[in-house]
Amino acid sequence: MIIKMKKKGKDRMDFVLEGVSIPFANALRRVMVSEIPVLAVEWVDINDNTSPIFDEIIAHRLGLLPLVFDPAKFKFQEDCSCKEKGCPSCQVTFVLEKKGPCMVTSGDLKSSNKDVKPTDKGFIIAELLQNQFISLEATAKLGTGKDHAKFQAANTSYQNQPEMKGGEVNTKPESFLFHVETISGLTPQYIAEKAGEILAEKAAAFKKEAAKL
Ligand SMILES: [Zn+2]
Repeated sequence: MIIKMKKKGKDRMDFVLEGVSIPFANALRRVMVSEIPVLAVEWVDINDNTSPIFDEIIAHRLGLLPLVFDPAKFKFQEDCSCKEKGCPSCQVTFVLEKKGPCMVTSGDLKSSNKDVKPTDKGFIIAELLQNQFISLEATAKLGTGKDHAKFQAANTSYQNQPEMKGGEVNTKPESFLFHVETISGLTPQYIAEKAGEILAEKAAAFKKEAAKL
């Protein structure tokens, strides 16, 4: 197996993967899209909302905010020693209190963890007119794209590499151009590496079970 980097940026990465089958390339793509743990807002307690925007819409917008976080520092709530009560190792809370007239943006969220924040301060949550206000507390936890699209780490696609043979363009077997674009607070490189780790864990688990047959 050979990997050749084609383009590497902050949000996007293109690489050629050679020496693998179509099912393997597809398994890798699926893991990158739906199995990488991502932190996103899951619960919102609205104390007050006198804006014209429904509570549900505000909660939905908060859920879709991509968050910067260190994946090594968070556990899935079901795997955490707090037994799903919620603690700093498995969740982060954000407090939002704003009074109009103003625009409420992602930059107004006050995080309980200084290392966790939205990827950008400028995502608009609501616009408040004179005397309107919002007061809420949002809680983020880890999830995967399988649970909900808000936990999706990346958009990933791949295509067969073209090859010139005898004046004809054919597709080169076992050679795929991958395109990984992050839509979370994780880097494309981390997403690709983590996908490899998840596939290796699955193979190891299978090996262990197969040994018992
Ligand atoms: Zn916990």
